[in-house]
Amino acid sequence: MKIYNTLSKKKEEFVPIEEGKVRMYVCGPTVYNLIHIGNARPMIVFDTVRRYMEHKGLEVNYVSNFTDVDDKIIKKAVEEGVDAAVISKRYIEECKKDMEAMNVRPATMHPLATEEIDGMLDMIGKLVEQGYAYKAEDGTVYFRTRNFKEYGKLSHKNLDDLQGGNRSLLVSGEGQKEDGLDFVLWKPKKEGEPYWESPWCNGRPGWHIECSVMSKRYLGDEIDIHAGGEDLVFPHHENEIAQSEAANGKTFARYWMHNAFLNIDNRKMSKSAGNFFTVRDISEKYDLQVLRFFMLSAHYRSPLNFSAELMEAAKNGYERIVTSVGNLNYLAGNAAQGDMSGEEKKLLAEAGNFEAKFDEAMDDDFNTADAIAAIFELVKFANTYGNEKSSAAFLTALKEKIVELSDICGLLVEKKEEGMLDEEIEGLIEERQAARKAKNFARADEIRKELLEKGIILEDTREGVKWKRA
Ligand code: AMP
Ligand code: ZN
Repeated sequence: MKIYNTLSKKKEEFVPIEEGKVRMYVCGPTVYNLIHIGNARPMIVFDTVRRYMEHKGLEVNYVSNFTDVDDKIIKKAVEEGVDAAVISKRYIEECKKDMEAMNVRPATMHPLATEEIDGMLDMIGKLVEQGYAYKAEDGTVYFRTRNFKEYGKLSHKNLDDLQGGNRSLLVSGEGQKEDGLDFVLWKPKKEGEPYWESPWCNGRPGWHIECSVMSKRYLGDEIDIHAGGEDLVFPHHENEIAQSEAANGKTFARYWMHNAFLNIDNRKMSKSAGNFFTVRDISEKYDLQVLRFFMLSAHYRSPLNFSAELMEAAKNGYERIVTSVGNLNYLAGNAAQGDMSGEEKKLLAEAGNFEAKFDEAMDDDFNTADAIAAIFELVKFANTYGNEKSSAAFLTALKEKIVELSDICGLLVEKKEEGMLDEEIEGLIEERQAARKAKNFARADEIRKELLEKGIILEDTREGVKWKRA
């Protein structure tokens, strides 16, 4: 399995620190609003990475934080006249609902910044002791960036270039820094803000320190994979490396993975630019499986432009798989029981080639675009060779292959019966009969498909239409 490592700018063979186990940390969202579909990209991408690793027999310890103390959360709390915790709790719950709807599995652990302050005080204390950090006059603690000799190794930036660029970015109060490159580890409280006591001042942590501390606490000093969107490479991940490696004296993460942006009109989708759709917005128009399919239809390191046309294409692509699975179930329900024929066994072995292609694509830095193309080839093969004459065993085996590969991508393609009532089903069947009478075959087909997707199989018999649940 090869992974593109931002650190080396190369695809490298993946070798975990501990055989058979993966320690993975993914930077999670700041919770002050509903997540947008740009935030959903890393969730879907790295959930798929996790699923594929598990498919390969690896045990993945997957940690992803929620940033629940931040200027934006505090601002929103002030606007609503409530505690910051009310805002963060609300949006963590909403985020979890969106994750579930996108079939993104919960992490092994979702730590919260506000519950990890002790660990942050420990790490900052250690950095101060070692001369990697210092307290400024107002109590702010800064990281002494130039003392960390490898600073810039992830973002491939040169310290002196950074120095020039950063001077203009100094914000008020930062004049007390020893050096423009130094960044905040701990900052003094402001009136009305949540704060914690510390040896330096009553205040709250900087953003970067939280990930260094939570990763250490739940995964150890050295981890296999650290991941997030590409906007996090600098300064967030660069700063995390500096803090962790200075404090722990060990390589922080071996592989750094970054997804490219989800764009809209070729600009990064973001809350601050206002050019966003929330996951909730999209769910009003589409099954979120379609959104997941859309995200995975591009390689995670390629920018992806959101558009109505591409979402429609994703819908069609996803439905092609769902329909094929529904058809195979339908055919299997009516097919002869018993063993596969010799010819069927041969065909099934041939279908194994598509699985091999799928794995090959995923082994090549999780090329989900090619992996989905392999699923399509398998679907085409199943549609060609699975028919009324096939055995139930053959049809079921083909279906299971499609479902398994889709499942590795987190795509649910076998629609279980969604609790449709008998009357609802019969109503639709009547509508279908009427449509047929009126020679509206398109509508009649649509109804058959709709029922099939809900696990209801129709049979046109001499005595009329019969139905059963798959
Ligand atoms: P934030 O809440 O802004 O810290 O973002 C949470 C995660 O979403 C981070 O991994 C970001 O890199 C990622 N992210 C934010 N916007 C986008 C976008 N437009 N495309 C892809 N990833 C994004
Ligand atoms: Zn982080």
